[in-house]
This record gives sequence, C-alpha cells and structure tokens, in this order.
Amino acid sequence: MDMRSEIRKLARIEEGPYPFLSLYLNTKWDDEQQRERIRLFTKNQLKRIYDQLKDREDWRRAFVTDQQQIERFVEGLVRRVYNEEVNGIAIFSCSGIGAFLTYPSIIPFENECFIFDLPILQPLVRLSSQYQNTLVVMVETDSAKLFDVSMEGMMAESSIKSYVPGRHDQGGWAQMRYQRHIKDHMDKHHKEVVEHLTELFDSDKKRIILIGQDRIIANFKLFLPERVKQQIADTFSMDFSEERSKMLRRVFERLLQKEREEVSHQIEELKERTPMGGLATLGLNRTLEALNKGQVHTLYLLTSFSLPGGKCRRCGSLVLIHSPDESSVPCPLCKGKMKTINLGEEMVRSALRQDGEVKWVQENTILNANDGVVASLRFR
Ligand SMILES: [Zn+2]
Repeated sequence: MDMRSEIRKLARIEEGPYPFLSLYLNTKWDDEQQRERIRLFTKNQLKRIYDQLKDREDWRRAFVTDQQQIERFVEGLVRRVYNEEVNGIAIFSCSGIGAFLTYPSIIPFENECFIFDLPILQPLVRLSSQYQNTLVVMVETDSAKLFDVSMEGMMAESSIKSYVPGRHDQGGWAQMRYQRHIKDHMDKHHKEVVEHLTELFDSDKKRIILIGQDRIIANFKLFLPERVKQQIADTFSMDFSEERSKMLRRVFERLLQKEREEVSHQIEELKERTPMGGLATLGLNRTLEALNKGQVHTLYLLTSFSLPGGKCRRCGSLVLIHSPDESSVPCPLCKGKMKTINLGEEMVRSALRQDGEVKWVQENTILNANDGVVASLRFR
C-alpha cells in the first residue's frame, strides 16, 4: 500500500448523504494502561458524537452502525499482542457507503476523533508528509541489507551476501596482494548492491539512508550513480546487531530532521520568487485564490493553522469567513450556497485533489508573517 496514493484517493471522495467517522489512535502499548486509555477514549468519543447528532436523525441512524464496527475493531486492536511496528492507526468508517478503511502507522497518532461528511485527513497527511518513503541500506564489506521503509513500517527487506576471502597472516608482497584481492571483492560486492539499489530507486523514487562504517560507505558511494547519490538523506554508522526497532527509530529521526531542513529551504526560496510575479503565493488570500484556480503545486501550512471558512456547495471554492453569519453569504464566484468548514482541512483536500503536495511546518518566520500559509504554483 502506497500511503501517498491512498491519501489522494481519500481526498477525492465526494460528499454524500452519510457521515464519515475519522478516528486516529496512539496504539503504542508502552504500558498496560495505554490499552485501557484507548478503549476508554474510543468509547467516550463515540458517545460524544452520538449525542452531538441528536438533531440529525439521518446521520445518527447511519452512525450507529459505524459505532458498532469501530467498537469491535478497537477491541481487537486493544487485545492484540504487541507489534512494535504498529504504533498508530487511522480509521475511516462510513457505513452508509460501506467504507471501513484502516491505515497502520509506525509513528503514533495523537488520539483524535471527528465526524464530518468526508474523511478528516489532516493528521494522516501531516505524518505522511514528514516521513517519506525511504530505502535504507546497511553495507558491509561482504554483505548488505536493504530495507524499504515507509510510515506504515517495514515494507520489504532483502539481503545480499558475497564471498570475500578472509585475511591471511602473511607479510610483505603476499599481504599486499591479499589486500588488493580483498578490495577487489569488496568492490565487486558493492557494485552488485549498487545495481540492486539503483533498480529499486528507479522503479520508485525514494530517499536513501546509508548505514555502515565510514570507510566502507565511502567505498560504496564511489559506485553510486549521481541521481541516486543526490537522494542520500543521511549516512551513519551503527552496530548491525542492534535491534531493528532502534535502527528504525534512528532512521525516522533523521528523516524528520532532513524534511524540516528541506522545507524551510523551500520556503526561503518561495519568498524570493514572489516579488517578480513568480510561481508562488504568500498569505491566505492569494493562496486561497490559487487553490480555487487549481494552480497549487505545494501547499505549506503551519501546524497551528486553524481558521473557519466557507466552501461553496456548487463549485467547491474556498473562502475565508470573518464571522459565522458570513457563511450564509453566497459564493463570490458562482453565487452558490456556502457551508461552514475547517479551512485548513479543506485547503489540504483541495491541494491533494489538484495533485499538489502538502507540507506541515512546526515553526517558520516566513509563515508566521504570512497568515501561516504559502504555496508554490504550477502555473499562473
Ligand atoms: Zn461557487
């Protein structure tokens, strides 16, 4: 399952007459209480929503089925034995259209629950944008392991072993010949791993992380094609006998840091682009305009971004509303009726629907000075 394409599919779901329940859970069972906390959280949220739907009989009727399904599923989760590679789960349920979708994650979600006429995607998009799919290569002189890692966990693993002659206790020329011999074998092995890695890389562009001793990594990199080398997010050395979860933790830490550096660099660059009428927008008004025209390539949002907005029921345009009664004002573009929405969520959906990317930013001075939102554009 490729999370990015799954998210795009979710974003393209159209509003129907039934409610969508979105439930995000932290299922990292560090202690036994966590299981009980999750059981209780789910129960309370489902109750809260049931009560909240007292004036919407049609939704409430449909919701009762979702409620049962979710309760059964969560009970199963809570009873499950510990799996260190599933620390979070996103669940979307809409019994009205027979949808029940679950997405496990290696990174825990914060516990959240929403009811709306569409799946609430922000928490899922946020995590998936921060942790890109990655190929992790552990290289030694005579063996290598390749891991295909994504937010959902370890997707695939392969190992390559080749014969490298052992050391011999001889001096002088014989020793030098052996050293040469060993080096030739290591080169041959590294070339083989590079070939395998390049093939994987070309079939699906990913970030790359190299793990191994400096000297070995340096030799390995000599054989990497430039296009692969450019995607190296990090290299570090680590004891290969370490537990895999420790390796993964380190990989995810590095990915997050790399992503932050890149995003802040991209935003700098956007700011430089804007004054000359370049392909970028700063601030809410211009970015909304660009989203409504389908121009957005990448949307950058502060994680603290939270504003109500309006969405046209007819043309789908998004507008900023300054007060709740403004949602009764007709759409400025087509005069259609508006509904009140969470602007951040709908901006994300709109960007995804136009095949754009979304990046979440914790802290950034340029975003702070521009309503918490900027975007790069495909065209004007
Ligand atoms: Zn409209």
